[in-house]
Amino acid sequence: MGNLKELQEQLTHEYKNVWGEIDEAETKLVMDFSIGYKTFLDVGKTERECALEIQRMAIENGYVDYKSLVEKNEPLKAGTKVYAMNKDKAICLFIIGEESIEKGMNVIGSHIDAPRIDLKPVPLYESSEMAFLKTHYYGGIKKYQWTSTPLALHGVIVTKEGKKVNVVIGEDDNDPVMFITDILPHLAKDQYAKKIGEAIGGEDLNVLIGSIPCGDKDTKDKFKFNVLRLLNEKYNVTEADLVTAELEIVPAGKARDVGLDRGLVAAYGQDDRVCAYSSLIALFEIEAPKKTAVGMFMDKEEVGSQGNTGSQSSFFNDVVAELINLQVDNYSDIYMRRAMGNTKVLSADVGAAYDPNYAGAYEKLNSGYVGKGLQIVKYTGSRGKGGCNDANAEFVAEVRNIFDENQVIWQTGELGKVDQGGGGTIAYLLANQNAEVVDCGVPVLCMHGTYEVISKADLYMAYKGYKAFYKY
Ligand code: MN
Ligand code: MN
Repeated sequence: MGNLKELQEQLTHEYKNVWGEIDEAETKLVMDFSIGYKTFLDVGKTERECALEIQRMAIENGYVDYKSLVEKNEPLKAGTKVYAMNKDKAICLFIIGEESIEKGMNVIGSHIDAPRIDLKPVPLYESSEMAFLKTHYYGGIKKYQWTSTPLALHGVIVTKEGKKVNVVIGEDDNDPVMFITDILPHLAKDQYAKKIGEAIGGEDLNVLIGSIPCGDKDTKDKFKFNVLRLLNEKYNVTEADLVTAELEIVPAGKARDVGLDRGLVAAYGQDDRVCAYSSLIALFEIEAPKKTAVGMFMDKEEVGSQGNTGSQSSFFNDVVAELINLQVDNYSDIYMRRAMGNTKVLSADVGAAYDPNYAGAYEKLNSGYVGKGLQIVKYTGSRGKGGCNDANAEFVAEVRNIFDENQVIWQTGELGKVDQGGGGTIAYLLANQNAEVVDCGVPVLCMHGTYEVISKADLYMAYKGYKAFYKY
């Protein structure tokens, strides 16, 4: 019987909980790693703030703007660190490898946009002696979560004179916050009769921004006027300037620890800044890798990756072409094609963590779990893998070995049970250029909620796994 037990242990596979597998010293590393992470989340609550923070950190870590090398036509040396910023919304970091770029890159791609509520170009109006902002939500939100909670306003306003004004209201403890009202339960009979997805309509997400009038009985729209007056005082802008603005409503407040044991983090926008941060820090700790190591931090994933700051843009290829041009004597398209065909990518995006409160949405055996480490997701998509990138078994095997050789605790995950829903990431975009790509990220509870929850253990294993991949 003893032999059978041994044999069963040999033949059976089970994913382990990270906390039970790491020693005291590593537990401290896990806890410490989350401190910088929470600050990163607090500083970058929009794609612009996050891109600029990544740029600031990159410069601090010895990265230079790739354009300065292009201008000087400076030959690329192994170990050179460059960044490429795209319109202050997406940024790519490169450490040039010992091998030429033509031989392929090791890329980790994440996204730094998150579901939110954007202001319309003509947002401000007054109604019933209050001032409001009209909005159009961005990405997949559950609208009811955004009512009855403190909200902050972030973004930029470009004035007629071409000045770019940065706006942040609602994050400082002394700041006022914005608010979207909900109907009291006593009067919610009609709302209760609706399906939960229809209880709050898109045009109901009107943000309360003022309630004190300015002017006398002859003044028109006194409540709206007062808001404009205050905006002008603080930012020197007018109503017309709001047309040339990108203003975003996000939940106000900072990232917090969850649970008495502090094992989890709750914060807005962890999809996908948890993968952005862990891959960024991993990249900062790499010196002179064999393959060129690349961190992509992209915009517009939550609305399909279109546009010039999304992953469908030619931006990444344009920058890679410039870098190849600094490595070869006569640039030709063939170098670019070889580079992409030889490239290996971790599409670093979050997955849905199994939630026992909503067990019916998951398939237990193939779900990712909070606390069981970095999650490999072979395919995404929905309804028969529609729209998926299905990673090749050979590449998944490579990644598995990299993780195992580097004591990275990992698991696999699938986004919910078959035909329950689904989703996608940026994985297919680089795969379409023939790179090997697999999704690999942190499992999240309450994904796309105003506050999302992740495990510090998974965050740390993501960092550890991404670093091992970059070195490979
Ligand atoms: Mn995502
Ligand atoms: Mn998402």
